[in-house]
Amino acid sequence: MLYSEIADVFDRLEGTSSRLEMTSILSGFFRTLDPVSLRHIVYLSQGKLHPDFFAVELGMADKLVLRSIAFVSGMSESKIDELWKKEGDPGTIAETLVKNKKQTALSYEPLTLETVLKNLTLIENAEGRDSQDKKTKYLFNLLKDSGPVEARYICRIVTGRMRIGAASMTILDALADAFGTKEDRPEIERAFNITCDLGLVAETLATGGVDAVRKIKVAVGNPIKVMLAERLPSIPLILDRMGGRCAMEFKYDGIRVQAHIDKDSVKLYSRRLEDLTSNFPDIASELRKRCRAERAIIEGECVAVDPETGGMLPFQTVTHRRKKHGMDKAVEDYPVRIFMFDILLADDEDMTLYPFEQRRSRLGKTFDLSEKVQLTSMEVVGTRQEGEEFFSKALSMKCEGIMAKSLSPESVYRAGSRGFLWIKYKKDYEEALTDSFDLVAVGAFHGRGKRAGKYGALLMAVFDDETGKYCTVCKLGTGFDDAFLAGMPDMLDGYLSEARPRMVDTQMTPDVWFLPTVVLEVVAAEISLSPTHTAAWGVVKEDAGLGLRFPRFTGRVRDDKGPEECTTANEILSIYELQTADKL
Ligand code: ATP
Repeated sequence: MLYSEIADVFDRLEGTSSRLEMTSILSGFFRTLDPVSLRHIVYLSQGKLHPDFFAVELGMADKLVLRSIAFVSGMSESKIDELWKKEGDPGTIAETLVKNKKQTALSYEPLTLETVLKNLTLIENAEGRDSQDKKTKYLFNLLKDSGPVEARYICRIVTGRMRIGAASMTILDALADAFGTKEDRPEIERAFNITCDLGLVAETLATGGVDAVRKIKVAVGNPIKVMLAERLPSIPLILDRMGGRCAMEFKYDGIRVQAHIDKDSVKLYSRRLEDLTSNFPDIASELRKRCRAERAIIEGECVAVDPETGGMLPFQTVTHRRKKHGMDKAVEDYPVRIFMFDILLADDEDMTLYPFEQRRSRLGKTFDLSEKVQLTSMEVVGTRQEGEEFFSKALSMKCEGIMAKSLSPESVYRAGSRGFLWIKYKKDYEEALTDSFDLVAVGAFHGRGKRAGKYGALLMAVFDDETGKYCTVCKLGTGFDDAFLAGMPDMLDGYLSEARPRMVDTQMTPDVWFLPTVVLEVVAAEISLSPTHTAAWGVVKEDAGLGLRFPRFTGRVRDDKGPEECTTANEILSIYELQTADKL
C-alpha cells in the first residue's frame, strides 16, 4: 500500500474539527484495508508503532530531524535552524522544503507502508555510539522518497508531534461504523479498555468481526484501563447513594500501580500505562514471592513509609522513586509498601466480571501478606457514625480520606470508566473546598513585572470526552514558586504550537499555544458561570460556560496523567451542580 494514501487521510483528518466527519473519513478508509495494515495504520494515526504501553518510543531529537531535512533539501543546517526558530514544527519545515526539493541523484521510489514501517522500526531500535547517525540516515531514506504531505507526517511521527485529532474514542467510533453497528460500540470499547491496544482491537474486528472481539480477554501483559471514582461531599450522601451500606477503604496517598504477575516476571504499570517496574523493583519481586497464583493482575497504591516508625508519608516522598537514576539508593532511602485494593485476573479467571466482594475475597486468598505487600484497610459500613469513625481513622493514619465501594451485585470492575460504584471522599471536602482538578495547559501569557521574561500565567483546560475538545476553565497565575516559574519553559516549550491547536476550544488568545500535554493539579474556591470559558458551554446557561474562581496551582505536576485523563467537562458540570445543591 502506498504511504501517500495514508498521509492524504491524515491530512483530511487534520483539516476538520468535526468528530463525525473524522469518523466517517476513518471508517471509509478502514473498510478498504487488510487487517494487518489496519493495525499498523491505527498505531501510526496515534503517532506510534505499537500500543501506548510499549516502553520504546520513536522520540527523535528535533536537531537530528532537521539534519535529515537539510540533507534531503540541500539547504544548509543554519538556514534550517532559522526556519525552525520561526516555525517550531519540523513537520511543516519538511513539507515546505520537500515541495521545493532539489532533484537528488538518487532514484525516487514511491514510499510504501512497508518501507515506512521498516525505517521507523530501524530508527526506534538504533543503538550504540553511532545511533544518531543511523537515525538520521533512516529518516533520510524516508524523506528522499516523500512528497510534501508524506514528509510532514513522517517528521511529526518521529518527533512525537502527531496530533491529528483522531482520539482513541474517534477511532473506536470509526471501527464500529466500519465493521459492526452502533450497538456493538460498547463491546468494542470494552475490548479496548481491557487491553489498551487499539491496533489489536482493530485487527481482530477486521478479521473475525464483533464475535472475535467479544472473545478478547483480560491478559497478563496488556494493561487494563483503570476504574475511577466519582465524588460526593458527605458520608450520608455516600451511604444514600450506595443503598445504605457499602465497603469503605482508606484512600492512600501514593502512586497507583497495576501489577501484571506472570510465572517468573512482574511488570508494574502506572495509570498512564508507563512501565514503573524499574522504580519499584522491591515491590515487584515481593509481589511475585507472595502471590500464590501462577498469573495475576492486581491494583494497589504504592506508598512511602517512614523507615523508623513505619508511618505513612505524603505523596511527594514516593515520587523520589520516579527518578531515572540512582534507583538502588532510592529503594534504600525511600521504603515503599503496596496496599492492594483489587484483583483483575487470577490465573485464567477474568475477575473484572465479578462483584467487588468476590474480588476482594479472592485478592486476600491469592496473597500471603507481608510488611511490604498488604491489603487496603477496609470495613463494611451501614451508618453515618460508622462511616465518620472510619474516615477519622483514615485521616489519623495520614491517608487522604476514604474510598467507598459498592457491594451491589453490579459492582463489577468497570475498566476505563468513572462511576458511582466507587465514591471518593477526602479531607479537603470537609474544609469546604472542592476537590482538586487536573487541568491541561493549552497556552501561556508572557509575564510582566517580577515575572518579565517568563510565563506569567497559563491558560488551563478540561477535556470534553464527548466532543474530544479541550475547553478552557481558567487562567492560572497563582501557586507558582520561583523554581517552578523558572522551569516552566523547559516543561512546556516542547509542546509549543504555531497556532491554536484544533482540539482546543477557547475564546481567549494567549501569547503562545501548547499542544494539550502537561497536566497540573489546581484547586479553586468555586465553579461559576463564565462568559469567556468554554467548559460545558451553553449547558447551564445560554452563552455561558463554566470557569474556576481563584484557581491556584497545588505544586503537583500530574505526570502520571495523560491529557485525556484530566478532569472532564462533565465532571466540572457535576461538581457545579453539587456545589449549587449543597453549597459545597
Ligand atoms: P482520579 O483517579 O479519580 O482521576 P486522582 O488521580 O486525582 O483522580 P483521586 O481523585 O485523589 O486521584 O482518587 C483516586 C485514586 O485514589 C485512585 O486512582 C488510586 O490511585 C487512589 N487510591 C488510594 N486508595 C485507594 C483505594 N483504597 N481504592 C482505590 N483507589 C485508591
